[in-house]
Order: sequence, then C-alpha cells, then structure tokens
Amino acid sequence: MLNPMLIPGGRSIQVLTHLIRTRKIPHAMLFTGIDGVGRYQTAIRLAMALNCTGQPDISTESDGQNTNGDSQDPAYWPVCGSCPACRKIITGEHPDILSIQPAGNALKIDQIRSLCDTLALKPYDARYRFAILEKAQAMTLPAANALLKMLEEPPARTTLILIANKPSDLLPTIFSRCQHLRFPPLPEEQIARSIADSEGISEEASRLIAAMAGGSHQTAREMDSGQWLRQRHWLMDELMQIHRGPAPDKTGSTRRIMALADILARDPQHIFHLLGIMKSWLRDLAMVAFTPEHTINRDRTDQIKEVAASVPSQTFVGSFEALEKIEKQILANANPRLALETYLATLAQNISTSGGLESIKNYG
Ligand SMILES: [Zn+2]
Repeated sequence: MLNPMLIPGGRSIQVLTHLIRTRKIPHAMLFTGIDGVGRYQTAIRLAMALNCTGQPDISTESDGQNTNGDSQDPAYWPVCGSCPACRKIITGEHPDILSIQPAGNALKIDQIRSLCDTLALKPYDARYRFAILEKAQAMTLPAANALLKMLEEPPARTTLILIANKPSDLLPTIFSRCQHLRFPPLPEEQIARSIADSEGISEEASRLIAAMAGGSHQTAREMDSGQWLRQRHWLMDELMQIHRGPAPDKTGSTRRIMALADILARDPQHIFHLLGIMKSWLRDLAMVAFTPEHTINRDRTDQIKEVAASVPSQTFVGSFEALEKIEKQILANANPRLALETYLATLAQNISTSGGLESIKNYG
C-alpha cells in the first residue's frame, strides 16, 4: 500500500522530478539505502506519475523550471490517485507494473527468466512499464547473469528498478548499466509524524521511537508497539540499577548481570532492538555533556546526566564500540548469552558508583 508520508525528499527526488518532466526515463535504475527509507514507495509513485491520466502533464512546462511546487517534493508529481491507472497501481493489479520479491531467501533464476518472458511482450496498456526488483542483493549469480542479458537488450518502454542496500550488493556489470540514486535515512520528524497516528502511541513515544529508528520507517514500525516501550523502560531501569549497584568483583555476586544477559539473549527476535536501546543509552551518556540537545532518550535526561557526571565520557565511547563488536559477533552466530555476560560484567565494573574505572581494553 502506498504511504505518501514515506516518500523521501532530497536530491534523488529532484533527479526523478527532472526525469518525469523531460520524459527521459532510463532503462534501469538502482535505488540504494537502508531498509525502510521509502525506496519502494518512491518506485511506485514514479510509476503512477508516468502513467496517471487524471492530472496535467508537468512535462509540458516550457522552461523546465519549478513553477508550481518544489522539485524535491514528490507531492508535486502529477499523481491523482483515482484514475484507473493510479488505482490499479496502488492495489498492485496493474499488468505493467510488476514487483518481484525474493522467493524465500533468494531471487532465483526462474523468477528472472519469467520476468524476461513477460517483458519480451509489449506493454499491455501502460505508457511506461516498470519492473521493480525488491531486495536485489538477494539475486543468485545465475539470476544476476540472466538479468544482465536483459539489460544488454532492454525491452521497449520499460524501466527496471532495482532496490538494494548498497551498490556493492550488485555485480559491477549490472551496476554500470543502472542510473544510481541514493536514498538517505528519513528525517526524524517525518518518521514521528507517520507513526503518531498509531493507537496507544503518545506524541512523546512517537518522537522517541523516531529518534531511535535510525532513519528507517520500517524499524520505527517494528518498534511501534506498547511491548517495545515496556521493554525499553525495563532495560533502562536495569541499566540504572547497574550504575547504582555494587561493582561485581571476583568474589561478589554477579547474578543480577547474569540474569540480565540471560533475558536479553533469550529473545532472538528482539535482541538487536534491545542492543539498539543500550547503544542509544551509551551514546547519550557519551554525548550529554557536549550536546545535551541531541539526547535520544529525552525522558531519561536526568538519569543520563547523573551517570555521565560520575564516569568519564571516554568510558562510554569504549563501551559503545565494544557493544557494536558484540552485535557483529552475535550476527556471526556467537553465543549471545556468553557474549553479553562478559560485556555486561565489564560494563558494570566501569560504570557502577562503587566500581573503579577498568581499562576499556578489557572488552577484548
Ligand atoms: Zn491518476
């Protein structure tokens, strides 16, 4: 479903506006960016802008200048949303606007062959036909080679849009045949507005989620639930407990930390969200003395200042970097519980009020 709030602004949209205006649409484009920044939404909106029959044609503006709106704002694109073409594109029923997603984990050669067969026919009723390949990084090598053949002899009135995270996700021979447009992370304000209408999400919570989503609407949506907010409160309280509690030592009890590592590791679906919360907390601790206005966890500013006042900020920088390493290790199949136990014990040693400052080298 098209969500106009998710169309990004910026340089890429400016380029696309120019293409719509001049009707010089390339045979192949590559949209890169992290997941959830509106690449697919933009591809759909572009297909609508070029096929809509219900709006005046902006390509007829003689000087190519922006006379009626902002060229960085796709709201200016000629899309009515209600003509037959627009309606069919929005509902995914347009025969000439094709979306291909990986089957399982991979975009397979059979899918690309079937696409080539379809595109060998003339467009059914669209002025501009589009084939959108989502998660193009999932293409197998045979699939990529089949696609390359098609790019060497592009079908008529057809634009292929590949969606990937980064240019190196594709074969250089494919990349070189595509017009590349980069989509930056979405602004926090835009994400906050788009989730503010969700049930049970206060304005403060939507701002907090937007600040923690890293510019990805998809991440914000995954976080956009009462459960995530409760988990965050719980984890923040536990982290404060580590700060206020006694430092673990060789003979002392570390059971609380073991229990925390165990709970974090037990939830494989959400472990990276939880680590993201920890990272935002450490980032705030490292930065609050210098740029308090950029604190992410604004509802916890007083507690963050309390911890930051008693521990050198360099400690938090080291802890943040160490946590990023742990994330990578867990992604590479390290045992999350063991990795987190060691990490949290060192963190506790470094930040607890009664603990001394341990060398950050302890993180290994
Ligand atoms: Zn229309």
